[in-house]
Amino acid sequence: MIIIMKDNASAKEIEAVEKTLEDFGFQTHPIYGEKKTVIGAIGDKRQLSMNQILLMSGVENVVPIMKPYKLASKELQKEQSVIDVGRGVKVGGSKLAVFAGPCAIESQEQFTTIARQVKDAGANILRGGAFKPRTSPYSFQGLESEGLEIMYNSGKECDMPICTEVVDTRDVELVAKYSDILQIGARNMQNFKLLREVGKCGKPILLKRGLACTMEEWLMSAEYIMSEGNENVILCERGIRTYETATRNTFDISAIPVSKELSHLPIIADPSHATGTYKYVPSVAKGAVAAGADGLMIEVHNCPEKAASDGPQSLKPEKFAALMKELDVIAKAVGKTLL
Ligand code: PEP
Ligand code: MN
Repeated sequence: MIIIMKDNASAKEIEAVEKTLEDFGFQTHPIYGEKKTVIGAIGDKRQLSMNQILLMSGVENVVPIMKPYKLASKELQKEQSVIDVGRGVKVGGSKLAVFAGPCAIESQEQFTTIARQVKDAGANILRGGAFKPRTSPYSFQGLESEGLEIMYNSGKECDMPICTEVVDTRDVELVAKYSDILQIGARNMQNFKLLREVGKCGKPILLKRGLACTMEEWLMSAEYIMSEGNENVILCERGIRTYETATRNTFDISAIPVSKELSHLPIIADPSHATGTYKYVPSVAKGAVAAGADGLMIEVHNCPEKAASDGPQSLKPEKFAALMKELDVIAKAVGKTLL
């Protein structure tokens, strides 16, 4: 970090700052100007926070040099991470990853039907919710362990990896037993105990962006998972809360190039939860691929009118198949492949 002293800070104040930094193991590199002194400090910030220095007499500002997240950062790893999610599917490489399936798993028949349809259309990962984080306690909460079994069966039959959400630390072991990828939903992006727990599970994690979280907060959440030894984190931009009510959330397309600059982790886009309306899903999906997303998560239902959850934003299988064809053209234009 760099410590900027106030104009005409006294020699005593400068010395006190240097001594504190050195006591905490930092190397100090002061530059004495005529009016202003600036101190470069190199060391482990875990021992001493910037705020402690900021409180010292004569200090004007403290500027970090390194990002607060390390493992998730481009500073640590320049090349993009490619995450093997099983059954020969990778996320972050030149082939786009398309997670598709219903919001909630409703029955074996429903899930298998949709799984076959999205596979035929070119999706390579199945999604579906067994534990649903619903806004209302009276809404369908998911089939839980029965849902996991249903999903597992379909994944096996279609030879596709599966991705499902875990909402409670007590279920991590169970979900990890069935699922190839564990999803952390937007509402749990800052559930730090859950992040630590999935960090220990050994399966790739899909980390959705919190409803009102900044890029830095999101990457700090990735850091929680990675700091437990699980480096296989996939980011998912699913829209953020703004004043706009025409769509369920506001899709932050800039999150894609910004995350590419800050982090080596792959990022996918979820136009279904971002827009909340099936009509808008294709445009946002195409925009995300053009912007450099490593993949998409799209809700698909064979009978959206009767869906237990998120019907209005679910594409019918034929619409999904048509979209995949259009996306293929865009993928090629940005040097990726899809179908
Ligand atoms: C979901 O994927 O069904 C879901 C609940 O997503 P989010 O956490 O983005 O709202
Ligand atoms: Mn949903």
